[in-house]
Amino acid sequence: MSFHLHIGVLAFPFGTHAAPLLALVQRLATASAPAGEAGARFSFFNSAVSNSSMSFSNSCENIKAYDVWDGTPEGEVFGGTHSDAVGLFLKASPRNFEKAIEEAEEDAGMKISCLISDAFLWFACDLAERRGVPWVPFWTAASCSLSAHFYTEEILTAFVGFKETAEQEQTLTFIPGLSKVHFSDLPPEIFVEQNPSPLAITINNMVGKLPKATAVVLNSFEEIDPIITKDLKSKFQDFLNVGPSILASPDTPPSPDHDKTGCLSWLETQNKPKSVVYISFGTVVIPSEKELLALAETLETRKLPFLWSLGGNAKKYLPEGFIERTSGFGKIVPWAPQAGVLAHNSVGVFVTHCGWNSVLESVSRGVPLICRPFFGDQKINSRMVEVSWKIGVRVEGGVFTKASTMKALDRIMSGEAGKVIRENVRRLKDKAVSAVELKGSSSKNFEKLLEIISVPN
Ligand code: UDP
Repeated sequence: MSFHLHIGVLAFPFGTHAAPLLALVQRLATASAPAGEAGARFSFFNSAVSNSSMSFSNSCENIKAYDVWDGTPEGEVFGGTHSDAVGLFLKASPRNFEKAIEEAEEDAGMKISCLISDAFLWFACDLAERRGVPWVPFWTAASCSLSAHFYTEEILTAFVGFKETAEQEQTLTFIPGLSKVHFSDLPPEIFVEQNPSPLAITINNMVGKLPKATAVVLNSFEEIDPIITKDLKSKFQDFLNVGPSILASPDTPPSPDHDKTGCLSWLETQNKPKSVVYISFGTVVIPSEKELLALAETLETRKLPFLWSLGGNAKKYLPEGFIERTSGFGKIVPWAPQAGVLAHNSVGVFVTHCGWNSVLESVSRGVPLICRPFFGDQKINSRMVEVSWKIGVRVEGGVFTKASTMKALDRIMSGEAGKVIRENVRRLKDKAVSAVELKGSSSKNFEKLLEIISVPN
């Protein structure tokens, strides 16, 4: 098949960054190639490990994955921490991407006409500028955290004299849409001088580049944060909320192993609607042993049906005999088909670390949240969940203790406040659904994005 456009896509292969970018590219690839027509070819650049963890099998034939070097020295086996891996990868960039781009251009016999990248990968701005093509960064989190990073300078100025712990609870009244966010909720990467990690330096470089982007794109919808949307629209050349992608993407037939851990069939056996507590902390976070114990003890005491996605070795920290004693009402799996789980009518609450994909998936399915944020954008997301959108609660004191977990669960599952929260999330879900309808804001923004990437070089 001959293509008339060649679009390069640069992924950040950590946390859940590459998967939502691939989901966006799959939508674009489908839309850019109407039946029978040659569309755009997308070259997807990502580390080998991250590429192999995602399914390209249900991708259109116009997406081709390329592995880029992750920075591990030849012949060595990586044995460091998550942040070591990020550091190594960023040190190898952008040369690793440039090499793969050259290879893809040779394969395709065509120069790249547009670069879409994870927003973190700010150097894609320079690569695009040198080539004279548009740069379209994709922010894989919410608009609230993007805004917080965008206002880094103002935040640092406002808190220049910051010394007292009490000042941590001051709010960001000077940032449109963030007036209820506390200083203590901010991603630590904003404070690059105190925390000069490779990721913090990268994000700070990104802030300066974003206004040069042809459009900044994100997997969210305008109506969730109208004030932030309006403000960021005035700051960027274009600011395009095109999600939620799980509502916007046409349903693909489920793969045969989509329920290989038996979660959906187990949910089918639960007779009471909105009764199940679903627990997951994403792909990176593992709570401490103490917190896992507190959470387990609460579930056992309350005897609420639960489905717990608990990967790695964390199961060994559960109380002795817990799995056997709770087997009549609980199920623990190493991985759950989360989007399907949250869509199931028997799920009543999501206990989460507040990664953006998890929050948005919960909103898209109308499920209230119990938040225990850990790092990055998770704290600011959880504040918005509780105080701005009013669709969930944060565990008191910020950590799982038996008392704080019990209180949060009771509030959502049996309290009057829980009914209001459930109604709020249902309303927000309706807005998300409308955004991806034919004339909805996200659909219009997606059309705009399609136009931007469709200009030949
Ligand atoms: N996820 C899943 N099953 C699990 C755990 C996580 O499908 O058992 C998916 C979830 O649906 C979401 C992603 O992994 O899309 C987690 O992304 P998020 O941004 O919430 O957290 P991160 O992994 O970046 O910390």
